[in-house]
Amino acid sequence: MRTARRLGIRTVGVYSDADRESLHVRSADEAVRIGPPPARESYLKASAIVEAALRTGAQAIHPGYGFLSESADFAQLCQNEGLTFIGPPASAIRDMGDKSASKRIMNAAGVPLVPGYHGDEQGIDYLKEEAEKIGYPILIKPTHGGGGKGMRIVQGPDEFVESLLGAQREAAASFGKSTILLEKYITQPRHIEVQVFGDKHGNVIHLYERDCSLQRRHQKIIEEAPAPNVVKEFRSHLGEAAVSAAKAVGYHNAGTVEFIMDTTSGKFYFMEMNTRLQVEHPVTEMIVGQDLVEWQIRVANGEPLPLTQSEIPLKGHAFEARIYAETVPRGFLPAAGTLHHYHPVSVSPTVRVETGVAEGDTVSMHYDPMIAKLVVWGEDRNAALVKLKNCLLNFQVAGLPTNINFLQRLADHWAFAKAYAAKLSAALVAACICDREHITSKELIPGGDRLLSLWYTNPPFRMHHSAKRKMELEWDKELSDNSLEVFKLVITYQSEGSYLIETEEGHSCCWEIKVIHLGNNEFRVAVDGRHTLVTMALYSKDSLRHMHIWHDEHHHHYRQTIRLERGNDDISQHKSSFEPVLVLEAMKMEHVVKSPRAGYVDGLQVAVGQQVYDTSVLFMIKIDDQ
Ligand code: ADP
Repeated sequence: MRTARRLGIRTVGVYSDADRESLHVRSADEAVRIGPPPARESYLKASAIVEAALRTGAQAIHPGYGFLSESADFAQLCQNEGLTFIGPPASAIRDMGDKSASKRIMNAAGVPLVPGYHGDEQGIDYLKEEAEKIGYPILIKPTHGGGGKGMRIVQGPDEFVESLLGAQREAAASFGKSTILLEKYITQPRHIEVQVFGDKHGNVIHLYERDCSLQRRHQKIIEEAPAPNVVKEFRSHLGEAAVSAAKAVGYHNAGTVEFIMDTTSGKFYFMEMNTRLQVEHPVTEMIVGQDLVEWQIRVANGEPLPLTQSEIPLKGHAFEARIYAETVPRGFLPAAGTLHHYHPVSVSPTVRVETGVAEGDTVSMHYDPMIAKLVVWGEDRNAALVKLKNCLLNFQVAGLPTNINFLQRLADHWAFAKAYAAKLSAALVAACICDREHITSKELIPGGDRLLSLWYTNPPFRMHHSAKRKMELEWDKELSDNSLEVFKLVITYQSEGSYLIETEEGHSCCWEIKVIHLGNNEFRVAVDGRHTLVTMALYSKDSLRHMHIWHDEHHHHYRQTIRLERGNDDISQHKSSFEPVLVLEAMKMEHVVKSPRAGYVDGLQVAVGQQVYDTSVLFMIKIDDQ
């Protein structure tokens, strides 16, 4: 309605008796009663809605994002009655409404699918055999499902039949169809979805992705855009796959292609396509600076898409938190009641509150118990997260139970709040260490720069490939030394002295980092071109090298096991003349390096397994008579 008003379009709201006084009725230019509270007698009653439109002279119907928004029959009815349905063609809704059929279409279009069975044969024994072929654990899903209902995880063959029967019963009750499909259950998934848009002239583009992995009961509660921790190539592959999916069904208007990503392999698979505007679309609007409802109206009106793929901006980071009336400790049980006190946070260009209620209103048992969507934007993920936490803290609701505290705890959880930042910080630590080592090795070479060989330049010279090294850092999650997670980094020395730092797991992150040492512990670093100041404190204790880093309101602590202690801190080991100190391996031959004089090994410059060069200083001997 806000968008329509801005575009000079008058609006008509429809309401059931339960919503007579509700905010959407008060906001519309005109409102029409369509029936009693139960949804099937009002909001799900297509004929009543069409009648209201015809009676008021409306030209188009926006179906919102619940109720009939994904009903092919409703879209068809609008068309038959000469009303413009602000959404996709009925055929695309039909194709995508059946999860099995949509998977077959996607398979034919070359979009990757989760290994599974999506066929028509539904006999118990047959399905059980298919489950064996896929390999447990598997997930049973109703083919016409939604909202996470009727899904069953099956760990092994013993549980299969019982789970299947349960899923079929629930599917029949909720969706009127008991057909199911089987999928490999991804145990460490991320839910990443792509916003697509098409017009009636055959153009289809995407507006980047959203990460909706934070869910309860298989339903999203915090969403963000863009997805954190993904490399550029992944983002473009995903976007292309989504556009192919939309083109495969002749799509126009707003749609979302949902993918599930297996974080252990980094692979992504098509899950389903939602043929409507989604609840979480504002996070996309925030990062691309567009009003998607306006796009919907224009496209439905036959206009071409306002922007081409290459013109879509991507700026900053956005979060959405869904504020629900629910009792968290009782399994997120929906709650109802009166909003005795309701003061959402103040809105601004970077804070949006999308709500359907006002103080004094009731959240009824009839519909979804969502109170509001809180949407925030920041320059980067950290800034947006700080804003999200602040807004949650100041979002005041009294009179009924809400999930606000739960959302706060979620936003505060290290895995969500810090996981990405901690990896980036680890990369910064690695880059600063590489930079320091380069300088130190220069200083240690007798004669200084004059004798410096090619191997010491930054980047070090290598034949036919770039110099690479691995580094393992243990991240101290709670800054308390007892909860550690290991980050494995691969560092590639780039031309012009920058470092390409990647995390080694499947869901890899990748940054290009350039370091300028400002003196003491201070560095100026450029991460993918963005400059920031870093302070790093380094010290050794109990055979561990400790690194603390501070940057952009972050403080992280990492440790590394020192395989061989440098001599200086310890009682150094005495060696007599020509006694072996270390063994060098070159071209698969071992060479024993002996102490040239009797004395103390003071300052061992290398660690076991390290590669050394022709002018490397390996160790120093402090001679006896000094
Ligand atoms: P619905 O249409 O009922 O919402 P989806 O197919 O969109 O069902 O799945 C809902 C959620 O269930 C996903 O966001 C994801 O968290 C989880 N899920 C779906 N498929 C899988 C799978 N194969 N393995 C693991 N989790 C899955």
